[in-house]
Amino acid sequence: MSIERTLVLIKPDGVARNLSGAILSRIEAKGYTLAELKKVDASRELLEQHYEEHVGKPFYEPLVEFMLSGPVVAAIFEGHRVIEGFRSLAGTTDPTTAAPGTIRGDFGRDWGLAVQQNLVHGSDSVESAEREIKIWF
Ligand code: GDP
Ligand code: MG
Repeated sequence: MSIERTLVLIKPDGVARNLSGAILSRIEAKGYTLAELKKVDASRELLEQHYEEHVGKPFYEPLVEFMLSGPVVAAIFEGHRVIEGFRSLAGTTDPTTAAPGTIRGDFGRDWGLAVQQNLVHGSDSVESAEREIKIWF
């Protein structure tokens, strides 16, 4: 067993569309355990820390603005290989091509919204998870 912790964010689109429960429920159904949960009005400073790897990319500023547009739900989930497992459950970054059965593939609205509106964030490595959990909790 390799028990890990990962940071999951339900982005402002997911919260605004009342999908928080449905998304958390899918993660729990897969077998992961909810360790921490809160609703947050994130500050620009917090988001700049969270997304520091993307500074300078064309989507960086729109991404931060989008994340400031409404509350997010922050959670820590625990479980065997949860980092990779959650990213598989979330689907690929762009909801247009995310596989059916994934959170982004099933719930991603596909009428021309920007890629940033893809419902969820999940840490991508053990190091990222540790770093991000310290930022949010
Ligand atoms: P993730 O790990 O799948 O969330 O994707 P990344 O770490 O590469 O990017 C972080 C977030 O930036 C993504 O979840 C999207 O919200 C947004 N993003 C990434 N690539 C693009 C892009 O090409 N265009 C836009 N508008 N947003 C993007
Ligand atoms: Mg990422």
